[in-house]
Amino acid sequence: MKRSVLSATLGLALAAGLAVLPTTAAAAAPAAPAVQGYTASTYAGSAAETADNQAFFQAVMASAKSKQAANPLLATVVVTYDASSAPSFRNQIASAAQIWNSSVGNVQLRAGSNADFRYYEGNDSRGSYASTDGHGSGYIFLDYQQNQQYNSVRVTAHETGHVLGLPDHYSGPCSELMSGGGPGPSCTNPYPNSNERSRVNSLWLFG
Ligand SMILES: [Zn+2]
Repeated sequence: MKRSVLSATLGLALAAGLAVLPTTAAAAAPAAPAVQGYTASTYAGSAAETADNQAFFQAVMASAKSKQAANPLLATVVVTYDASSAPSFRNQIASAAQIWNSSVGNVQLRAGSNADFRYYEGNDSRGSYASTDGHGSGYIFLDYQQNQQYNSVRVTAHETGHVLGLPDHYSGPCSELMSGGGPGPSCTNPYPNSNERSRVNSLWLFG
């Protein structure tokens, strides 16, 4: 008898817990790491995350530009990255940087110390994402499983696109880099289209 009461109480508690979960998650969202992922299904974005990612992008830009102030004659802003914490993706990160560097002129990516942002690797049920702590710093996380399911250079170039200021656009075609996982795993295009290139060049236009 006591046992069944306990079960019933537990059941109610679980039901109550499930019932309040969406509210709790929504209330906690601003304090949690904000991410822009590779697929729409793993994570639903919010206005707060968009703002945080904008803050991340602004911080990267401010950091890169303050270093550039020492050499104001350079027309190109250099954003420095540290890939040492994502050793499995060394080649993909180099390819993504090369793709972006050949696609845009106003900003260039360089590996180096005193980095503006870092790459990390590991396992995360949300997949790969660009993340910010909401205080103007952030990183790119590359998920092992997702990078096996999807083209890894496309995933890496996509997440790097967030650092350069581009938002997700999952409903776009495979020819669009920021459509991410939207077109499915068969999409292997790692290049930004002309609109995305123009957008990044505009965002990083100096003066
Ligand atoms: Zn994304």
